[in-house]
Amino acid sequence: MANRVFSFHYTLTNRQGQKLDSSIGQDPFKVMEGVNQIIPGLEKELVGMAVGQKRLIEVASDEAYGPVMEELRITVKRAQLPEGQIEQGMRFSTGKPENPVFTVVKVEEEDVHLDGNHPLAGVDLTFDVEMIEIREATPEEMEHGHAHGPHGHEHHEH
Ligand code: ZN
Repeated sequence: MANRVFSFHYTLTNRQGQKLDSSIGQDPFKVMEGVNQIIPGLEKELVGMAVGQKRLIEVASDEAYGPVMEELRITVKRAQLPEGQIEQGMRFSTGKPENPVFTVVKVEEEDVHLDGNHPLAGVDLTFDVEMIEIREATPEEMEHGHAHGPHGHEHHEH
């Protein structure tokens, strides 16, 4: 049996009401159920929604991007990083699948402070969701394990 594909609009805010992301003004976001395409705390609630329904879905950080891990906040020597200008906000991949991308938090004369936590780690999230469409996944989507856009197979960054 085919999984379902959910198309929905969302606006994501943190508990302080600060807007972090939104699909408004773009195509609705599409998610195939059962493939861990999105955080479990959101999928769990989405799959119970009906077309046209609006809901505020609150997802604690434990069911979103997890807690902040102090061991992923590290300090390295400038010389350990690629040559060239190092600036706050730059991101480095370690190239190892089990290791995350590190973001430059602070640059000092000799040391560079890096943070490998997901930017939303430790953040409790609120999704303002409107369900637009629910349909069965196509055979192609089932084979790929993710939802495709309105024009078929135009994506693929992963
Ligand atoms: Zn695909």
